[in-house]
Amino acid sequence: RLSSIDALVCDNHYTSLPAHFYNKQMPDGICDPKMVSLNPHVMALLGLADVVADSDALLQLCSGNYLPNGFEPLAMKYTGHQFGHYNPDLGDGRGLLLAQVKTAEHVDINGSNSHTWDLHLKGAGRTPYSRQGDGRAVLRSSIREYLCSAAMQGLGIPTTQALSVVVGSDTVMREQVEQAAMVVRVAESHVRFGHFEHFYYSQRLDDLKLMLDYTLTNHFPEALDAEVPYLAFYKQVVTTTAELMAHWQAVGFVHGVMNTDNMSILGQTFDYGPFAFQDNFDPGYVCNHTDYSGRYAFNQQPQVGYWNLMALGRSLTPFIDIAPLNEILKTYDDIFLAKLRQLMRAKLGLQQVQDGDGELIKNLLEILAGSSVDYSHFFRMLGDFDSSEAAVKSAEGVVNTAIRDQFIDREAFDGWAVQYQQRLALESSADEARKIRMNQTNPKYILRNYLAQQAIEQATDYDYSLVNELMAVLADPFAEHSEFEKLAALPPEWGRKMVLSCSS
Ligand code: AMP
Ligand code: MG
Ligand code: MG
Repeated sequence: RLSSIDALVCDNHYTSLPAHFYNKQMPDGICDPKMVSLNPHVMALLGLADVVADSDALLQLCSGNYLPNGFEPLAMKYTGHQFGHYNPDLGDGRGLLLAQVKTAEHVDINGSNSHTWDLHLKGAGRTPYSRQGDGRAVLRSSIREYLCSAAMQGLGIPTTQALSVVVGSDTVMREQVEQAAMVVRVAESHVRFGHFEHFYYSQRLDDLKLMLDYTLTNHFPEALDAEVPYLAFYKQVVTTTAELMAHWQAVGFVHGVMNTDNMSILGQTFDYGPFAFQDNFDPGYVCNHTDYSGRYAFNQQPQVGYWNLMALGRSLTPFIDIAPLNEILKTYDDIFLAKLRQLMRAKLGLQQVQDGDGELIKNLLEILAGSSVDYSHFFRMLGDFDSSEAAVKSAEGVVNTAIRDQFIDREAFDGWAVQYQQRLALESSADEARKIRMNQTNPKYILRNYLAQQAIEQATDYDYSLVNELMAVLADPFAEHSEFEKLAALPPEWGRKMVLSCSS
C-alpha cells in the first residue's frame, strides 16, 4: 500500500512499441479542478487505499495538471469500423495513456497474471487524432462513464474501470455550453480491435506482427505456448466477446456504439457513450440518437459482436489461414448461447439444466416485451414468485398479484407462470432458497438513464451528492440499501427509454 501517488511504480510497456504507434504528448489540464467523485475500490486496486482522498496531488493528477515521476503520456493510434464503414483516421483524440503502473499481482480477465494497470486520462486535450474534435470531455458524459464502469463492476460484468471524475472551470461547446471534465479510466489494456485493423488496412505487416506480439506477451501469455499463438489469441477474444454479449443481453444493457474501435481486446465493456439499461423491455431499443438504422439496437448486439470479431479476424489473415479463423468464429454462437442460458437460468433461480429452458426463457422475453414490463424490476420481483400449484392455478390473480400486475396482458403472464411453476417443480425448487439465489443475481439497483440524468443535472449545479449515492448502491446492487430506497424506483414518464446524444 502506497502512501502517496508519487510512490506509483511505472512499467510503461506500450512505449516499447515503435514511436509511430503513438504520439507522446503532455495532457492539457483543466483549470480549477474539483473532485466530483473518487472510486475507493479503484484506489485500492492501484494500491492507493491509504492515499488521502482529497490530497492535492491526486486531484491534480486526475485533472491533467500533475504527473508523478515515470509517467509518459501518449495518444494511441488505432482505426476501426464505425457503423460498418472503415475509418482510418481514428486514435486517442481526447484521451491519453498516462502511464502503466505496476501493482501487486492481480489476475486479469483472462485468468493470466497481469502486472500493470493502464491509467488513461479522458478529456486531456487535442492530439494528432482529434480530427474536428476539441480534445475535451464534458461533465455529463464523464459522469456517465464513471458511474457505469462502477455499475458494471458491481454487476460482475467485465468492464474497464474509472478512478475519478473531476470538473473544471473551463467550458466546452456541444449542443450547448457545458463544463469540461475528466475521467481517469483504469484497465489492464486499452488495446482495441481497431489497433490491428490499423496495420492490416495500411498493409504494414511488420507493424501488425509487432502489435500482435506485444499484445500476446503482455495480455495473453498462455497463447504464446499454444501451437498457433495468434489462433489461440483469436479464440480467447472470440470467447470473452461472446460471453460479454451474453452478459449484456442478460442484464439488459445497450452499449449504443459498438464500433470496432470501442471493442476491447480483453472482452470488457469499453467506451461508455449513449448506453442504456432497459427499463420497459424493448428488444429493438436503440439508445443512440444518431443510430438511424438501428445497427446497434439491443437485439442486434450479439450479431454485431460476431461481425466485429470477423473484422478482427480479417486483420489476422496475413498470418493465419482463413479456414481456421472461421472455424473459431463458428464457435461464437454456441459460446454466446451457453453463457446466455446460464445467466438467464440463474436469473430465474434455476439450478439444473433442462430441455425446454430455452423455450421458457424465450417465452418470458416475449411476454415482457409484449407488455413493456420493466426488465430489472420484473426479475427482482420474480424472487417472490409463489410456486405452490394452487397459487399459480388461480387465474383470478389473487396470488402472485404484484408480479402479474406488471403485465398489461395478464393472461400471457398466467400462461408463462404455469410453465415456470412446472419447471421449478421439476428440480424440486424451494421458494425461499430460490429467492436468496435470485437476489444475488437480479440487481435491485440499476443505473437507469433517468438516475444518471438526475445525478448529472445536480452535478451541473455543483451538487455531487447523488453521484456519490449512486456509487454506494451500484458497488453492491444486489443488497438492500434501505437509506437509498429511492434509487431503486422505476423511471418517471420523462425518463423512460431515453435516447441519448452521442456528443460527449
Ligand atoms: P467514440 O465515439 O467515443 O468512440 O470516439 C470516436 C473517435 O472520436 C475517437 O477517435 C475519439 O478519440 C474521437 N473523439 C471523440 N470525441 C472527441 C473530442 N471531443 N475531441 C477529439 N476527438 C474526439
Ligand atoms: Mg471510442
Ligand atoms: Mg467515447
